Amino acid sequence: MSTVYVTHSSYAQHTLSQHPEHTGRIISVWQTLIEGNLINRMQQNEPVEATDEMILAVHEATYLQQLKAISQQQRIVLLDADTYVLPQSLQIARLAAGGVVTAIEQVLNGQARNGLAAVRPPGHHALPQRGMGFCLFGNIAIGARYAQKAHDIQRILIVDYDVHHGNGTQDMFYDDPNVLFISTHQHPFYPGSGHIDEIGRGGGEGYTINIPLAAGHGDRSYQEIYERIIWPAAQRFQPELMLVSAGFDAHWRDPLAQMMLSLQGYAHITRELVQMAETLCEGRIVFVMEGGYDLEVLGHGVRNIAHALLGDETVSDPIGNSSRSEPSVESVIEAVCQQHQLC
Ligand SMILES: [Zn+2]
Repeated sequence: MSTVYVTHSSYAQHTLSQHPEHTGRIISVWQTLIEGNLINRMQQNEPVEATDEMILAVHEATYLQQLKAISQQQRIVLLDADTYVLPQSLQIARLAAGGVVTAIEQVLNGQARNGLAAVRPPGHHALPQRGMGFCLFGNIAIGARYAQKAHDIQRILIVDYDVHHGNGTQDMFYDDPNVLFISTHQHPFYPGSGHIDEIGRGGGEGYTINIPLAAGHGDRSYQEIYERIIWPAAQRFQPELMLVSAGFDAHWRDPLAQMMLSLQGYAHITRELVQMAETLCEGRIVFVMEGGYDLEVLGHGVRNIAHALLGDETVSDPIGNSSRSEPSVESVIEAVCQQHQLC
């Protein structure tokens, strides 16, 4: 069975010069996938446009109304200091969330074994009531709600390895015991949330796992975290579907953050996640593009996701490792394990 690949030419039409979240990001991904001869090996599907109903499963109606009003105007609107909306952005954001829905649909209806949604604008910072942090809609959250409603999927594991805390995704499932959200992120850092003691609320208590990391952690720390926290947490939860917020801004060369992962390190944790899905849920996993602001890193990072999903041994890393040594991750692992009774 195949790997579904969802993207759309419109993703290049949401852009602002001088802004880090610009059209060059998706173009780099497309080019790098072509260079790796990967596109033709995947099943390509056009994204659906996320409907109002899909969007309103995670967002408030007043926010959708606001975006509809902006789409009628001929100007750029800023939702916060760094989140822009153009007249065409609503439709593109519908295609971004819809890209995740389409990839999930193909995996859950058995047309594909696993999937890659190369979408933008990104989604994991978008809150129910407003967009923020370059994100308009909670793409991965909309996909997860779709899986729950359309396919009666009971347990969904969302892993977020973007360098920023996925505060929007966390918010949307904070009281939901059927969605386990696990985030590794630089901390303290934008957007400020993601403390170890943010663990969920009510029935959802224990179903949010935050792994905040000081600047400077890299391949070895992430490898330890996957072995000692993410694997046991996933095994305990027994997901039926896995979704990944795949951001490549934890790479050492990213201009916005200070983590030290290499492309090899990213490829390792990507493979761990694919292996987790193979072990726990018949391979059902969809990777969703989030951040990553070094264009070469982003392109090769996404290329390595495609290799992992297709079962290739290949890892593409023209950049190499940082020469800096990383701090010990032991105290963070112990604190998270204790908080979540994983050790
Ligand atoms: Zn990010």
